[in-house]
Amino acid sequence: MNYISTRDKSVKVTAAKAIAQGISNEGGLFVPDTFPTFSEEDFRKLSQMDYKERAKIVLKDFLNDFTDEEINYCVEGAYTGSFDDENPAPLALIGDKKRILELWHGPTCAFKDLALQLLPYLLSTSAKKVNDGKKTVILVATSGDTGKAALEGFKDVPDTEIIVFYPSDGVSPMQKLQMDSQLGENVHVCAIKGNFDDAQTGVKNIFTDNEVKEKLLENNMLFSSANSINWGRLAPQIVYYVSAYCDQLLLEKPDLEKGFNVVVPTGNFGNILAAYYAKKMGVPINKLICASNANNVLTDFIKTGEYDRNRSFYTTISPSMDILISSNLERMLFELTGNDDKKVAALQADLSSKGKYTVDGEIKEKLNSLFWAGCCDDEATIKTIGEYFNLYGYLCDTHTAVAVNVYDQYVKETGDTRPAVIASTASPYKFCDSVLTAVTDKKADSEFGNVKLLSQLTKTSVPKPIKDLENATVRFKEICEKDQMLKAVYKALGIN
Ligand SMILES: *Cc1c(COP(=O)(O)O)cnc(C)c1O
Repeated sequence: MNYISTRDKSVKVTAAKAIAQGISNEGGLFVPDTFPTFSEEDFRKLSQMDYKERAKIVLKDFLNDFTDEEINYCVEGAYTGSFDDENPAPLALIGDKKRILELWHGPTCAFKDLALQLLPYLLSTSAKKVNDGKKTVILVATSGDTGKAALEGFKDVPDTEIIVFYPSDGVSPMQKLQMDSQLGENVHVCAIKGNFDDAQTGVKNIFTDNEVKEKLLENNMLFSSANSINWGRLAPQIVYYVSAYCDQLLLEKPDLEKGFNVVVPTGNFGNILAAYYAKKMGVPINKLICASNANNVLTDFIKTGEYDRNRSFYTTISPSMDILISSNLERMLFELTGNDDKKVAALQADLSSKGKYTVDGEIKEKLNSLFWAGCCDDEATIKTIGEYFNLYGYLCDTHTAVAVNVYDQYVKETGDTRPAVIASTASPYKFCDSVLTAVTDKKADSEFGNVKLLSQLTKTSVPKPIKDLENATVRFKEICEKDQMLKAVYKALGIN
């Protein structure tokens, strides 16, 4: 298996190169040129194994230039001791049809941990193969969640340094505390005076500055990226959809004769794309249901075939889905066009020049045979959290509630009652304020007061990473001007 670029198929690299480099030079995204397939028998065997063993087998085909020892090292390092459940992606059952795939048992209580716990190992192993011994330097600009998940993932991973920039007034108090109290010898956190765009622009400028690259090379270092277009973040996500199928095979009444549907609260399209790849590999997924909040650019695309980012941007209570450009959709377009790199490049060019594109009838048809889409606003999200808690005693976060709401719309519209795996992407305790609003009219007078109140009222337990935060020590207090980010990078790396 090799990796090819979605905008130029003649670019062909190994897995290690695709992961170490992150993005192809002409701007395309790396995708495997073939996919492994699994038989029913294979899945039955996998279902007898634990999560880590399943992960090793699924990843092996995608990392064919890694040795078994390397894959072992990566998977064991990522998933041993860092999740609060022996299975990092357990299923919770609601009735006999709804199977909630809880992806928030990791160190930052959001689904990005599943990928960002493994990525640092994949990246440092890849870098060893293709960057001959140079230290990898990860720069991240974050609006909150990704920064913390990346810090936790990269902390104390050999031969890496990670530097995270966040807008000092643009993250929640809980997110700020999560990052500022980060442990680890190789982590650096810096708030900047500016907004998220300033942080992102600053990081991009540093990344692409040849003089800076030279200086890093002189010090035997190389930049890399941890953002969600890196193949090393997608591969770990395929694993949990395979694992969710395996876990269903073990249920008393799996009810899988006609397959099952998958529902995903979607932003950048990475998570739902991983579910599509799992389907391609043989997991009997029927429909992929794409759930959006008020930023419903994907709902419109799937319903009409026109992708149009020229619209209002809404700040919602499910902030990780507040996105108008879903970058991983590019990989799906590559699939839908039958690997037509020229067409994908043209569509992406339209997106950047006009902010929109339209796919032809044939692609639209294929899109609709695979996907169903729906959206809901904040009010409906809150209502859904309340309803599911009252009806089933199950407490959802604001992102998961969007998925649950859209799934109910799907069943109502289609009458399709196959079982459904609903991706639950964050712990309700990460979005305490909104979740409390859904279940009570009470509020405490502090962040941690709300955490305790939610726990008392719903009789659910507070995840340890959030509990620990109350007594955490702040390590990073630096705030820098937005034009001083490079200086902060050099200082963190000990470069003069
Ligand atoms: C990142 C994120 C999403 C969106 O996932 P994509 O892979 O970007 O579509 C949904 N929910 C939560 C809680 C997230 O952190």
